Amino acid sequence: MSASEHGSMVDTDSENSFEIVRKQCDICAALLELPDDIFELIRNPMREIKVAIPVRMDDGTLRVFEGFRVQYNDVLGPTKGGIRFHPDETIDTIRALAAWMTWKCSLLELPLGGAKGGVICNPKVMSAGELERLSRGYVERIWSFIGPDKDIPAPDVYTNPQVMAWMMDQFSKIAGKNQFGVITGKPLYIGGSIGRNTATARGALYVIVEAARTAGMNLSEASLAIQGYGNAGFNLAFLANDIFGCKIAAVTDQRGGVYNKDGLDPIALYNYKMQNGTVGGFPDSEELKNGELFSLDVDILCPSALENVITKRNAGSIQASIIAELANGPTTPDADDILFDKGIQILPDFLCNAGGVTVSYFEMVQNFSMLYWDEAEVFERLKKKMATAYHSVLNSSEKHKINMRQAAYMVAVQRIADAMVLRGWA
Ligand code: GLU
Repeated sequence: MSASEHGSMVDTDSENSFEIVRKQCDICAALLELPDDIFELIRNPMREIKVAIPVRMDDGTLRVFEGFRVQYNDVLGPTKGGIRFHPDETIDTIRALAAWMTWKCSLLELPLGGAKGGVICNPKVMSAGELERLSRGYVERIWSFIGPDKDIPAPDVYTNPQVMAWMMDQFSKIAGKNQFGVITGKPLYIGGSIGRNTATARGALYVIVEAARTAGMNLSEASLAIQGYGNAGFNLAFLANDIFGCKIAAVTDQRGGVYNKDGLDPIALYNYKMQNGTVGGFPDSEELKNGELFSLDVDILCPSALENVITKRNAGSIQASIIAELANGPTTPDADDILFDKGIQILPDFLCNAGGVTVSYFEMVQNFSMLYWDEAEVFERLKKKMATAYHSVLNSSEKHKINMRQAAYMVAVQRIADAMVLRGWA
């Protein structure tokens, strides 16, 4: 089947993440020569839940928040994926993120399908009490659709271990028994796993190590530019600097950016951001606008915030030789083509940021077995998973002469398609 039979392969600077997923599916279906019925199953979410969550605010008023959970595909196992609290959330973003979770779990050979949830809200202006009532209210609305062997949520943008604790507790109350396995990313003493909090960054670093080896790059001399200084961006900066001596040349966040060609101190910068709400204005550094980050003369560019930041508008000016996508969906399909032509090695999101869900899976295994692992065991298993996934993508990319994202799609979707045939779905 040709690519055009599945629709246009030419992107027109689309900003809709789910349209991007569908374009990526088109390309993949053509490469794999997928039969039509499997293609239809792959490009459509299996189940979508939309809820209204009433929350009593601190001032006594009642506000109703809109929430979603999209369970994209469960052919490989119970669905898995984070919950975002974000003012700009849309059903299409959640659909796209749920699809990427499906490919991510398949690529990492986890016995899990993909899902994603979200609530339209601005947690930055809500009190702890309001956030707790919202978290519990969300679970009250979706509890019958989730469970340790059904769908297992986790943290994502603007949700954290405390939010997971409230959600797990609410589900346990409804179930009438402790159900630690319903949520991952929990605090350590209530069923969390060692290493989960920094797992996204650590997993990305393990992939970067392999990619640097492929590119003949010496990491101790490498410079990084990082967009986003939340959990993923900060921990990557810290670990890359601490373990390999990488130089953190530039960091931007929503409100500002900084550059220092001799390197920024990741911890001092984090403490500064905690005090000032932004990295902007950090002492001994030059001011950097968010857009300027992408064209800097650095070795590794790390988009670690939100979607659609590398587009055909800025892809041509990128000088880095490796792009490590810690964010989900930061690059549009036509930017991918430009980057491939420039010979830039992309570490696609659902490979590069898969450390989070991989340690989430380890957390589930520990919850089920009630036997908890030490740090060395978690890190060793994570390293093996990430390196294996990287090399399967690299092999596919070299074999088919396609970019790393298309290669990752081929590996992940082929496994899903095979499972569908085995289960008699298509
Ligand atoms: N939200 C993370 C992701 O996008 C982790 C999901 C999980 O741990 O289930 O991969």
